This record gives sequence, C-alpha cells and structure tokens, in this order.
Amino acid sequence: MPLTGIEIFKLLPKTNCKECGEPTCLAFAMKLAAGRAELALCPYISEEGKAKLEEASAPPIRPVTIGVGDRALKVGGETVMFRHEKRFENPPGFAILISDTMDESEVDSRLERFDQLQYERVGLILRPELVALKNDSGQADKFEALVNKVTQQSDAGIILMSRDPDCLAAGLKICEDRKPLLYAATGENLDQLADLAKNSSCPVAIKASNLDELAELSDKLTQAGVKDIVLDSGSRTLRQAFEDQIAIRSAALVKKFRSFGFPTIVFPCEMTDDPMKEAVIAAMFVAKYGGIIVLSDFQGESLFPLLIERLNIYTDPQRPLATTEGIYKIGNPDENSPVLVTTNFSLTYFIVSGEIETSKVSSYLLVKDTEGLSVMTAWAAGKFVADAIAPFVKKSGIEDQIKHHKLIIPGYAAAESGGLEEELPGWEILIGPREAAHISAYLKAWKP
Ligand code: SF4
Repeated sequence: MPLTGIEIFKLLPKTNCKECGEPTCLAFAMKLAAGRAELALCPYISEEGKAKLEEASAPPIRPVTIGVGDRALKVGGETVMFRHEKRFENPPGFAILISDTMDESEVDSRLERFDQLQYERVGLILRPELVALKNDSGQADKFEALVNKVTQQSDAGIILMSRDPDCLAAGLKICEDRKPLLYAATGENLDQLADLAKNSSCPVAIKASNLDELAELSDKLTQAGVKDIVLDSGSRTLRQAFEDQIAIRSAALVKKFRSFGFPTIVFPCEMTDDPMKEAVIAAMFVAKYGGIIVLSDFQGESLFPLLIERLNIYTDPQRPLATTEGIYKIGNPDENSPVLVTTNFSLTYFIVSGEIETSKVSSYLLVKDTEGLSVMTAWAAGKFVADAIAPFVKKSGIEDQIKHHKLIIPGYAAAESGGLEEELPGWEILIGPREAAHISAYLKAWKP
C-alpha cells in the first residue's frame, strides 16, 4: 500500500533544513506522497527510512530487464489493470523460437527474419527483441553450439530454455554478459536455477503447473535471494492461459500479492499449430497481460500487426505522440524552396512530410510544438493561432535560410492568415490544402 504524506513525514529527519527545495519536511512528504518529488532530494534521510520508503514506492509488479545495451528489454513495472486508468508502462517483448535440433540453414533464416522484420512508423523503429533458444536435444554441447552461433550473429536479447540446469549453465557460460532470461525454474531444479541466476545476475523464469504452485515457487525463489523473476503459470490452453494472466495481474495490483508481483511469459507457440491463430492469441496477450510473448516463427504479415497493436496499446492515452519542434528539411531545400508549417502531432507530421516527399519538391517543414495536438484541435485550443505561430517562425531561424518570405499554412488554419500577416510583417501567408493528400499537387505548382 502506498504511504500517506503523514506516514512519510514520520520517516523524514524533521529538521526543515530546506535542502530538498521545500520549506519544510512536511511539504516534502506531501510532494513525495503525490509522486511529485524524488526521495533522493533529501540527503539526510536514514538508511532505514529510505528502505521503507523505497519499498512502499516500489511498483506492485517488479520491472525486470533482459539483455543489455540498446537491445535491453524492460518488462513489468505495471501499475494499472486498464490502460485508461493511467497507462501501461513497458511493452511486452516478442521472441522467436529457435531450437538446437533445427538445422543450420533454418537457424540462419530465423535470425535473418529476426533482423530484417523491422518497420519505421511515426518516427519509431518497431521490431522484435528476443530469441528464445530451446534445448530440445537435451545435449549440452548442441545447446552450447546454438548459443554460440546466435550470440555471434545477432545482438538480440536471449532466453535460454532447457529442462536441464547443466545445459542451461553451458549456454549461460557463452552469453552471460548478455544477461539472458533463464527458463525455467521448476519444483525439481529450483535451487540450482536460483544459484545460476544469483551467480550470473540474470533474471529467471518460473514454470509451474498451476497458480498455487507458481506462488509457492515464486516465494521460494525470492527467499533464495533472487529478485528478477518472470512467471509462467504453465497453462497452454487459450482460456486457462488468459484467465491466469488476469488472475496474476489482479492479484499483484489489487490484492498486493507479492508472490505474483512479477512480469509473465506466455507461449502462443505451444497453443496451436496454425500460424494465424497463433498471431491472434499473441494479440490477446499484448492487451492482457503478457510480459514476454514467444512465437514459433516471425512472418511479416503477422508480426507487423502485432508490433502496431503493441505500439497503440502502450502509448500514453493522456499524451499524444509528438514530434520535436523545429525545422525539418525534406529533400535538399535551398533558399527558393517552399516553407510549410504544421503541428507536432506525430501522425500529422508523418503524413505531411510523406506527402512533401511524394511531391519531390524539396521543402522546409516547420513543426510547431502544440503538445501533440493535430491542426484543427490545436487551432481550437489556441495553440496553433497567429500569436503562437508567429513567434515560433521568428525564433526558428528559417529567415536565414530562404530568400523569399512566403509561409504556407494548413487550409484548416486559414482563419489565421490575416493575424499572421500582422504578426509577421513582410511575409506573405499562403493558404495550403486542407487535406494532406492534396499537398503534392499544391507543391508542384510552387513558385518562389
Ligand atoms: Fe526535511 Fe530532508 Fe527536506 Fe531537509 S532535505 S527539509 S530534512 S525533507
């Protein structure tokens, strides 16, 4: 349970020294309780107080990181059951399954698909994160050879999957520095897996056969000193797996049941042989509440919609996707090139810039910060009006890059043209198309 301001205050030094930037310890406590201050701002809090406050402010589902560097994947850290309550925090990772019984060419083609299937959308690169390396052979040397090959050919995050702790240890020896997820601790091997995880500082997954056993194994692993845990309830039927995900999330968040306060791993690849059905099952787990989703293979026609779904579900519903304010050069604009202005809603930016590219008329696109609102919404909210656009145009520095003084504004902001001519003396304000689809034809007729 989160602490109240008064409970937090009792743990503070009460000297009112003001070093945290607040006039009193009580004011600081109130800000901490509201999540508007960082504990680290008070240098005088005791270790005991710090530990209590950190524990109370820890997310009910522990964030767990798999991998290192740019490809590290953070899952968990969720605080709500439903996206509209606040937002979902850390998108689930997609993993492609590779077995040590596959022949070399199949492994190569899977790694190739893993690398090639990535897409740019609203300025973001969407791609899968993980390879799940499975020790189907039961032989340590074969598993070791697969791990070796994959670590040399790919920088993907790794899940090591074996029933045999010795085989896992053999694979781990090769890729320990990549901090793989060890899959899986069971009732039979829990102590060995706990040692492997602690000695290598790697996260470990638990595989149980039902939720009761999952809670029991989670507690044992925690007591053994393992902190980074991922949960697999063991269900491989659609209905049961779905119910388990809801039960785990709700126990962790609503009942504060610490044993389930970890992200989950799910296996659509073990629930059907039909690739399309597998993608549909994976889509369900993106929404409810898979932390890592293991697929039997990646194909563009199923992976792309999954990546888009994940992007949409894990955006902040209170904050539209936004592009940075500034001047964007499209093509190779020169001093005679057209200058257009639009808002920084990402979708607006990418549609407008795409249409300018299509026109093949090199242009400057001025993107005004409207807090991620589209043209009409920003205009209606007073964020894309003459006295907001004009100062931005002046300070953008575009005047130093062009000879003409013509500014093309979106057709939906036509009402601002008079105001802009007053605010920007010497500029001619041109009213561009209302619809982005007409930008290309409009620019082709451009004359400086
Ligand atoms: Fe109180 Fe710490 Fe802030 Fe000083 S820095 S006023 S002790 S909370």
